[in-house]
Amino acid sequence: MSEKRMAVIVEDDEDIRGLLEVVLQQSGFDVFSTESGINGVALVAQHNPDLVTLDLGLPDIDGFETARRIRAVSDAHIVMLTARTDEIDTVLGLEAGADEYVTKPFRPRELRARVDAIMRRRGVRAQTLTQDRVNAEEAKTVEIQETSQALNGLTLNSATYTVEVEGKPKSVTPTEFILLETLLDSAGHIRTKSDLVRRLRDEESHSGTFVSASDERSVEVHLGNLRRKLGDSAAEPRWIETVRGVGYRSAAKR
Ligand code: CA
Repeated sequence: MSEKRMAVIVEDDEDIRGLLEVVLQQSGFDVFSTESGINGVALVAQHNPDLVTLDLGLPDIDGFETARRIRAVSDAHIVMLTARTDEIDTVLGLEAGADEYVTKPFRPRELRARVDAIMRRRGVRAQTLTQDRVNAEEAKTVEIQETSQALNGLTLNSATYTVEVEGKPKSVTPTEFILLETLLDSAGHIRTKSDLVRRLRDEESHSGTFVSASDERSVEVHLGNLRRKLGDSAAEPRWIETVRGVGYRSAAKR
């Protein structure tokens, strides 16, 4: 893709901010950075970045509130950086709209690998959108059928990245979209939490890479958020069914 990738860094520690700038510039981003949450939200609104890194402890509004405000105006991939390893913080961060978190101190190489995986995923989406436009010109009516899936009143369209319930659009984050798409693609087959973590990292599900308990917990929180947005219930699932102790699958057709 020729279009320049954009990132916003919200971090009040000057050394860490400098390190993040170097890492992201090496990954090919134009970088805007700030030490305050309020400014961060403004930079996101102004530049429409693909990626945002967000510190939890900021001098004005905290990282949770910043994530909430960013999420209201942007579908950027939000990586929360936290010095604390407390699971509560992780869950709160994801519930506020972050896509994943990185614990400080982080290794630049590890962060770069994760950022590259995120951008590959988003790149696939951009290509799909471009291809869809080509298809639309060539054959205006067919591609909707080929790229959308329906289950119990929900429609997911992988070309336009939209989700509708009973014809009403639902706003979901890219991470939530990928999880929902993966479950629908699997058509009732169980996907383990590790499978889903690897899917989000853009890895093969059987690659055998390490998946931590916190990574699995992240998937639980994302799916909890998604259920809430769709109006689904874990007890009587219409779309996302929990298979206790194993993972998740799409619910049966009704
Ligand atoms: Ca801080």
